Amino acid sequence: MKNITPYLLLIISVLLIQSCSNKAEMVDYFADNGLGNSVVTKAESGEHFNGVTYLAYQGSLEDAYVAAYNHKTQKWDGPYKAGVSLLGKTPGKKNDGHGKPTLVVDDEGFIHVAFGGHGGLKSHGENTLGNPHSGKQIHVVSKKPMDISSWEELDNISPFGTYSQFLKMDNGDIYLFYRHGAHQSNWTYQKSTDNGRTFSTEVSILKTKKRGTPDVADAWYADFRYGEGNDIITTFNYHKCKTGGLKHDGERHNAYYMVFNTENSEWRNVEGEKLTLPITKEHADSMTLIEDSGDLWTHIGTTILDDRGNPIVTSFLSEHLGLKSGGPRHLKVYHWTGNEWIAGSDSILPLITNDAKSDIKFTSPNEINLILAYIDDNNSGEIAWWNTSDDGQSFTKGDLLLKREERKFALSPWIRNAHPDARIVAAGISGKDKNVQMFLLGDNGPIKRLKTEAEVIE
Ligand code: ZN
Repeated sequence: MKNITPYLLLIISVLLIQSCSNKAEMVDYFADNGLGNSVVTKAESGEHFNGVTYLAYQGSLEDAYVAAYNHKTQKWDGPYKAGVSLLGKTPGKKNDGHGKPTLVVDDEGFIHVAFGGHGGLKSHGENTLGNPHSGKQIHVVSKKPMDISSWEELDNISPFGTYSQFLKMDNGDIYLFYRHGAHQSNWTYQKSTDNGRTFSTEVSILKTKKRGTPDVADAWYADFRYGEGNDIITTFNYHKCKTGGLKHDGERHNAYYMVFNTENSEWRNVEGEKLTLPITKEHADSMTLIEDSGDLWTHIGTTILDDRGNPIVTSFLSEHLGLKSGGPRHLKVYHWTGNEWIAGSDSILPLITNDAKSDIKFTSPNEINLILAYIDDNNSGEIAWWNTSDDGQSFTKGDLLLKREERKFALSPWIRNAHPDARIVAAGISGKDKNVQMFLLGDNGPIKRLKTEAEVIE
């Protein structure tokens, strides 16, 4: 009888090599079913809670998806479809591009997601604080704590919300900020003191109103962040909303800043003066203006506090039509000294494209770090640190976190209570294929995943 041992060894080797190569097939994205930008810098969409990072993004058919990464076991879970949006369901129709999810984990470990809104429909009833457009703001919650596999809808927030933003305070109170409809709507919040089971009625913050002519209305974009103690801080800009006989465009101006003391529900400007709600354009201009952008248009940035509790604000500036035509945006930093705003230069960073996104970090004693997503000179998408130690007068490029040819990136805000390995979510959008790859980035780059797991089967 022939000795079959060599053949057996050969077969075993081949099987071993195959199994190793399968194991080795790791990718640096965790899902490939993102849609459009999938995440936006003005909606907190991730939280690290009890060793697990939970994150939400907009996926196929503009629905809300949630994935989780367990830092101890180094295992991914999901993504699961957490809720179905009214948006994105008309075959052949372009994506609405709104309704991206915001996520918060309540003190009992239940995971909440609000998503799907772009002003709501007329069929949702009368919107006394704004005008309707499409979609419906929906609130879903996990059926079990720390378990993202099953979800239920809670009917306890306004259907008219656009740009939903959850914020959680140290005492467990949850705030949901949003624009109460389409462009010509007040910005409002609803508050929950019982882990998101009930919410207060809407409180108007920024007021929309006609500006002399029925063809122009005051409108706003706002970014809300946790400040310190009981404070929520916000930066916002002004949208001159044109209708009727005037051609509507993305005209937006100025940068503003104010603070919400959640303990007494009062709002104040940077100098501590009390504001009267809802805030009109006139009140905003006289009490909260950081800089009048003049003829330049602005795109909203974000805000953070330095080690003395003084705010730092970012804003993107562009020439006319920059927001629509893909023109360059320049990022500008403003820093409050305690007495005045110091404005950085708006021409130090390389030309930033229309798709630039950014979040901000303050490193004591005086270094400001911007994480930026942009298209580089060779048309590659990059996410990199840009650092300034002179309040934005000059920047140096820091670590490059991610680079892809023929992909551009969108960024979420910082993940709440983030683990160092998982600080921010990025969506990598390719012009070639429709699939948007979703990345979870931390100090060690993207958290990898088995390719077979990251290929989401709908
Ligand atoms: Zn408008």
